[in-house]
Amino acid sequence: MKETYKLVKNIISCNKCKDIIESKSIHDYEECKCEAVQLMVD
Ligand SMILES: [Zn+2]
Repeated sequence: MKETYKLVKNIISCNKCKDIIESKSIHDYEECKCEAVQLMVD
């Protein structure tokens, strides 16, 4: 079964700096201000 990417938007909030990271596209890499949280949609 071919893998499909329905997850194109992913949001996470950092517990330390309360920054909200939003990754909108596949392989979009984001990180918060304090760099405690990194987010990548793949
Ligand atoms: Zn942070």
